[in-house]
Amino acid sequence: MRSGERKAGHRIADGREKARNTRKHPPSGAIGDPNRESADPGLQPPALSLATRFLSSVRPGIDETAAALGSADPGFASEVLAAADEANRRTNGRRVTFVVNRNINFTNVCVIDCLFCGYSVRPGDPAGFALSADEAVGRVRESISLGIREVCITGGLNPSLSLSHLAAIAGAIRREFPALHIHAFSPMEVAWLADREGLSAAAVLGRLKDAGVQSMPGTAAEILVDSVRRRICPGKLPVKRWVEIVKTAHRMGIPTTATIMCGHVETDSDVAEHLLVLRRIQEETGGFTEFVPLPFVPFRTALGRLMKSSRGRKRPTTHGSRQGGRSISGIDPGRQSSVVGGGLPGVLDADRMRRLHAVARLFFGDLIPNIQVSWTKLGVELARTTLHAGVSDMGGTLIEENITRLAGGTHGQYLSRDEFIRIIREEGLQPVERDTLYARFWGSGR
Ligand code: SF4
Repeated sequence: MRSGERKAGHRIADGREKARNTRKHPPSGAIGDPNRESADPGLQPPALSLATRFLSSVRPGIDETAAALGSADPGFASEVLAAADEANRRTNGRRVTFVVNRNINFTNVCVIDCLFCGYSVRPGDPAGFALSADEAVGRVRESISLGIREVCITGGLNPSLSLSHLAAIAGAIRREFPALHIHAFSPMEVAWLADREGLSAAAVLGRLKDAGVQSMPGTAAEILVDSVRRRICPGKLPVKRWVEIVKTAHRMGIPTTATIMCGHVETDSDVAEHLLVLRRIQEETGGFTEFVPLPFVPFRTALGRLMKSSRGRKRPTTHGSRQGGRSISGIDPGRQSSVVGGGLPGVLDADRMRRLHAVARLFFGDLIPNIQVSWTKLGVELARTTLHAGVSDMGGTLIEENITRLAGGTHGQYLSRDEFIRIIREEGLQPVERDTLYARFWGSGR
């Protein structure tokens, strides 16, 4: 067993330092260096290929990143995957990390209707539930023997649950299991609590931190482009507020993950813009622990039904869905056919997903050194091949993963520590267990 030396509290400063030192200019004379001299001054230099431009960029911009994501050139795709794999090996060696954690969903009741959500029910629905602090502690207790190091707490916007209630859940877990890391709530939940209780986001975060919350999932990000959010989750906080809450959390010493939920109505430019928003935050705060691409799981969701029924139609509407009456423009039937019913068994475009992980590795450089593949969203087989596309982390064991399952995901709710070790080794890589903040590590030789 070995443990890392880095202290969690130093991460944010470390991130800023990395931001200054990462991906400097290409060496003079390198391919793509605008100052590079042609061997024969009489000849015009050849036009630089997309791959060359993207791979040699110091800080790729929206246009070149979108082009890289959308390129249909198989040669280019191989080049990007290989470059991402190499960049990851330079940063992380052959190590692939994972965390032994447990999910707790404190409620499934929610007052807003994100079209991609298959998890929530409306207030008053007989299927609704809300956990008490004692019940949440009970859920943790039943997983302790599995060696969990983190509890991840997420839910919905339930009008019957106050900030005090959520702080009581975190506080009860903290008192009972002081060694566990509490990774909890989301920018959307913080915004909701702040609005309902007439508090600032900083005040809400302060209460939750005092109760025991140590880090926050960077969810509710979906696509950080307001025009897309208005189509798929109009009740959700706008980009500006998401960014403010995340930056506030980082400044208060609450690191977060960074996520994207894609494979629905977004364009490659939207994805590139999302990456740029995250990069700017990280350059400022250094508070992101990892980046996690999450494909949209379409089954049992209003958006999935819309995308399915929109084949061949230009402007699908939500008639008959819970979000009835609104129209959603911009669902590309070509894209949709590769998401619903194409690629993997009806779930996602595997090549695009793998390329997104690779592009993210190159886009963020060492600024966000941990790129995670979500086995619960992609499935183990695609996750394992994506380990060779710039990915350094396989996420968590996720005992009781409900949100993907209830949207129709079929990849399971739990992957044991031994299964992580086996899968990673089978890929010729080194499994290493980590804590939430990548501050302590335990080798696989148990
Ligand atoms: S994604 Fe979250 S905020 Fe949106 S409806 Fe589902 S539970 Fe509510």
